[in-house]
Amino acid sequence: MADLLGQVHSAAGDYLASLAARPVQDRDALALLAELGGPLPEKGSEPGEVIERLLRVGAAAGTASSGPRFFHFVTGGVTPAALAADWAAALFDQNAFSKISSPFAHEVETVALRWLRELFGLPESWGGALVGSATFANFTSLGCATHWWGFQLGVDTAEDGLAELPRMPVLSSGYVHASARKALQMLGHGRNSVTVCARDGVGRVDLGVMRHHLNRLKGAPSVIIANAGEVNAGDFDPIGELAELAAEFGAWLHVDGAFGLFAALSPRTAHLVEGIGRADSIAADAHKWLNVPYESGFALVRDQARLGSAFGMPGAAYLPGPGDPASGYALYGPESSRRARSLPIWATLAAYGKQGHREMVERHLDLAQHLAARVDAAPELERLADVPLSIVCFRAAPAGVADLDDFNRRLGAALLEDGRVYAGTTLYDGRIALRPAIVNWRTTEADIDLFVDVVRELSQKVSHEVGTRAS
Ligand SMILES: *Cc1c(COP(=O)(O)O)cnc(C)c1O
Repeated sequence: MADLLGQVHSAAGDYLASLAARPVQDRDALALLAELGGPLPEKGSEPGEVIERLLRVGAAAGTASSGPRFFHFVTGGVTPAALAADWAAALFDQNAFSKISSPFAHEVETVALRWLRELFGLPESWGGALVGSATFANFTSLGCATHWWGFQLGVDTAEDGLAELPRMPVLSSGYVHASARKALQMLGHGRNSVTVCARDGVGRVDLGVMRHHLNRLKGAPSVIIANAGEVNAGDFDPIGELAELAAEFGAWLHVDGAFGLFAALSPRTAHLVEGIGRADSIAADAHKWLNVPYESGFALVRDQARLGSAFGMPGAAYLPGPGDPASGYALYGPESSRRARSLPIWATLAAYGKQGHREMVERHLDLAQHLAARVDAAPELERLADVPLSIVCFRAAPAGVADLDDFNRRLGAALLEDGRVYAGTTLYDGRIALRPAIVNWRTTEADIDLFVDVVRELSQKVSHEVGTRAS
């Protein structure tokens, strides 16, 4: 077994060293994926050969999304300490189910959750759950909100579900993320349960409209979702004002802070999440801006006991019940058996501290401003939004192009096909745009400059294609 791990270890050095220069995606290498197919082997092969094949194909055909020039979605890298600790999590193969299945994993998770609360300046008394992603953190948070809401109406939804209840009112701005809707869909409310209160095509919240809807509920309990960091331009709902509304109308305030919660780390951006301490629940990702490996997200919940009420299991005789001192995090979140995903979170916080993570966030803020300046300086590029955080929303707008949406769709496709750098397109205020997001510790100014150079080069190429087609 140690020999197999040695194979991974020796491949790791080369792979990690290659990240600085390799393209994000080598399309030609995708042909190698055929080597992993074929029928399920009857007898199996020599494990050393199997692992050699996996490493060879993965190193060539894998997406270098942990490298410095992957700006698509919101994709973090992996700090050295987090990667090593993730290997350790696989090595120890703990079941972070309960204090009995692994006192070690249980304790590290307790410390990791406490450190996360400290990192974001949240009260020690809050509860939390480490989950696989921000989608699951939204699910966990809105699961708690659902239980709270049912309780207001005299129903224990964990016992009896939603059948006796009206539809749960959910209000948000146009910034509400698809995964919050997916969480509502999984919880049985349906993804259309959200009433969007937006005042413009960007999706900025209309507080007057939200107040109007809350008034119409005549005191019935409801849930407000505030968005800390939306994905198109990194903008924020006014959390403090939404907290005021939630307090006035007795609503549950949930904040989706998948990456935007990290604004709390820097005095330069902390004002963006002002009021977050008044939330009832917060969802965030660790595999984005904390730079730990997938799959890692977390929910932080003001009323710790609510997690147990919403996610406790009806103790099978061989399992610990909720009040049992041997119970654990399986009873405070949606999963039962689970890996020790606390280990990389613990390790990165232990290794780099509050200061290291603040410095990383601030480096990304600077890089985003640098990117915005390069966009502003390029005559054929047009920035579409302010840059409050680390996403820059812009499009190509070369002179004489009639259909800019079509042009930018082509540009986005050309960028992915080229593979040197990666960024995705979106629809921002009715316009197709690029929206590179910078949250990887490896990214340097040179990477940003290369990104702009590649975008400009491909924009020229698309101009020629479009021009040729038109003539
Ligand atoms: C990424 C993101 C999510 C979903 O996160 P996953 O980790 O992909 O599940 C939710 N909300 C926001 C604002 C996000 O940026």
